[in-house]
Amino acid sequence: MLELENITVRYGQHRALEEASVKVKEGEIVVILGANGAGKSTLLKAASGICEGSVSGSARLNGTELIGLSANKIVDEGLALVPEGRGVFPELTVKENLTLGAYSQRARDEEKQNLARVQELFPKLADRASQIVGTMSGGEQQMVAIGRAMMSNPRILTLDEPSLGLSPLLSKELFANLAKVRDLGLGILLVEQNAKQSLAIADRGYLLENAHVTHEDTAQALISDPAVQAAYLGAA
Ligand code: ATP
Repeated sequence: MLELENITVRYGQHRALEEASVKVKEGEIVVILGANGAGKSTLLKAASGICEGSVSGSARLNGTELIGLSANKIVDEGLALVPEGRGVFPELTVKENLTLGAYSQRARDEEKQNLARVQELFPKLADRASQIVGTMSGGEQQMVAIGRAMMSNPRILTLDEPSLGLSPLLSKELFANLAKVRDLGLGILLVEQNAKQSLAIADRGYLLENAHVTHEDTAQALISDPAVQAAYLGAA
């Protein structure tokens, strides 16, 4: 389980997050909704050890404190991030991108099994192993990014706006793939602008507004909440 507790982040004088607390268990999808600039990316970055601001609070992964650890060590502990914009290497092949995801010692030791698991989950990544990633469609590249993160054999996968720039059809496929990853027993923490599709596959969700977590509930309850409908689901 990932337990983010009272995470506060400052960029100079600007407080991007104020005592934000979020939990993700293995086998569930948790979505964080919020307007631009609310602090969503900052929360994922703080947990992953790549935040440029000053971070306080606690981020425990199955009891191990992550705050203060290097980004590589955090991946090794079992937390992987698919950053906004995917973070794939467009000039390299699918297989090379996947292999690069297995950089931690723990992942290198289990590279073969992890690759087999990723290719079983996303058969297209096996079929297209030697394709240069920059020549793939946006949806396929997002699949490579998720596959690459899964090569580190994470317990919890975090994703920053993975549906950005995808057509509605490709987003649908992406969210269906995330549900498959959850069904393997991983926990997923998802930051999304696409509230409708992400809530449809999520188990729980949080609203992040002006650096504060203002609301937490089951996905089902959030979908039926009039305030959530008005702010995030485009209802009148
Ligand atoms: P979006 O949906 O637009 O990506 P977000 O909710 O992910 O927004 P963050 O990227 O976490 O928001 O940013 C939260 C606040 O912190 C914003 O006001 C942003 O300008 C500021 N911020 C983010 N990164 C930095 C940085 N490296 N230096 C200074 N300020 C930053």
